[in-house]
Amino acid sequence: MDKELNNILEVKNLSVGFKIEDNFYFAINNINLSFEKGKIHAIAGESGCGKSVFINSILKLLPKNSEIKSGEILFNNEDLLKLSEKEYSKIRGKKISLIPQDPFMSLNPLYTIENQLFEIIDKKEKDKYSIAFKALEEVKIKNIDSVLKSYPHELSGGMKQRVIIAMSLIAQAEVILADEPTTALDVSVSNSILNLLVELKNKGKTIILITHDLSIVANYCDSATIMYLGDVVENNSAKNLFKNPKHPYTKALLGALPTKRGKKLENIKGKISPINELISGCKFHPRCNCAFEKCKTEKPTLKQNKTSNVACFLCD
Ligand code: SF4
Repeated sequence: MDKELNNILEVKNLSVGFKIEDNFYFAINNINLSFEKGKIHAIAGESGCGKSVFINSILKLLPKNSEIKSGEILFNNEDLLKLSEKEYSKIRGKKISLIPQDPFMSLNPLYTIENQLFEIIDKKEKDKYSIAFKALEEVKIKNIDSVLKSYPHELSGGMKQRVIIAMSLIAQAEVILADEPTTALDVSVSNSILNLLVELKNKGKTIILITHDLSIVANYCDSATIMYLGDVVENNSAKNLFKNPKHPYTKALLGALPTKRGKKLENIKGKISPINELISGCKFHPRCNCAFEKCKTEKPTLKQNKTSNVACFLCD
């Protein structure tokens, strides 16, 4: 099938920034990304690289001091940025849903799980209980009747995350944005949530997974985008990214990943700069072990390489 036709979401030339005091600073710059239907796409990088701003731009849930300066976000070929808030509210939480880092923030503490699931089921549906039950069954919740009668604080973090995923299923979301969904969970629960995302992908859902953990990218994702200070620096299939990383930042992130027992982990020198600290040339140059003179003054653009898209002069 034509790959373009199979893209459920396409982001074109997206630039978003924040007004801080009297100045405007870009948090993401001219992002171009396509998301193929029925795949798990990772967006990875350290905190502050623009991953969450990207997700919140898709959801149009940005803070008041922010502004989308340019771009298009095409969902099934319709530009979400051109929709009014009323029109977009028919998509947010329904066709495009969010699994947040902290599931407690998305559940109302005052209502039972049953109330909250019934709320998103079409009013015309007569048998809301069966729909809610089936969705909880799909996310592998046991003791469903007891969970339905529970309040969010009575459930564990993993259970709450499963309830949020069940909500996406009830809403028949086509795209699920998962913003570091396992950060607050312990390892075994986190693996079961990630396996659940793989099952949803196999059923045709498209998942955009935000993570700073490259081991998750390796084990669960089909493609990966690495971001640094609001720029895409490398874009590749997850398999290629691990086999043959190109950008020095990707290599540094992989070098910091624990692999073999006894292997010395590499540090990435320095730290990510705040948004209001403007860096000339390649934004990664103060931390890059391969930087040379040109990197300090000229900015590399994302170019098609043999297997990937990379923004680094060494790969030109
Ligand atoms: Fe490093 Fe220069 Fe490549 Fe930037 S352009 S990643 S500074 S080598």
